[in-house]
Amino acid sequence: MQYETKFCVNCATPLQWIVTAEDSGDVSRLRCPACGWTHWGNPTPVLAAVVENDDGQVLLARNALWQEGVFGLITGFMEAGESPEAGITREVLEETGLRAKALRLIGCWEFLRMNQVLIAYHVRVHGKPGDVRLSPELADYQWKTAQQAQCWPAGTGYALAEWIKSKGEPVRFGAFRPGQNPEPDPAKWPVRYWDEDGRFVVAPALD
Ligand SMILES: [Zn+2]
Repeated sequence: MQYETKFCVNCATPLQWIVTAEDSGDVSRLRCPACGWTHWGNPTPVLAAVVENDDGQVLLARNALWQEGVFGLITGFMEAGESPEAGITREVLEETGLRAKALRLIGCWEFLRMNQVLIAYHVRVHGKPGDVRLSPELADYQWKTAQQAQCWPAGTGYALAEWIKSKGEPVRFGAFRPGQNPEPDPAKWPVRYWDEDGRFVVAPALD
């Protein structure tokens, strides 16, 4: 559920759209006319995991709120006081019962509709495929090889695409849910590496 901030969290005065000079120029934001508090509305960090077992398979899970047949990565909110690495290790354990033994950052993507930023990790776990113990949040799961797994055009899908590519397998995209656009955003996939150093990607153009 999306909420709209209406009152100052500091003094409870109703917020107003007020224009103030910022680094980028005059910006209208919800601000408190009494104490000056600003509702920045910064994106919320969400952690995601491409969970890989010792057989080289990735864990895809179906959220209990999703329709049949729709599977995604393990995700969860980053909590106050933890690093992203600790957060995704915790989320994987809580949601699947699997213990992480190693992880690496895959990348970050925006999720504009939810005002979130996705931070995606490749997480190697201990245990056998049958060791999964799903939390009540998740209804079902499946293990897929890099050859079998299909991506979808959203941050979590691009993270999965990076993992499939790292396995040397061709990346295939499909709709996340029936009826959705199956095509990847050309700004996101394929990734455009910088010719002079393949560890870097080309910076996006700013207006
Ligand atoms: Zn206030």
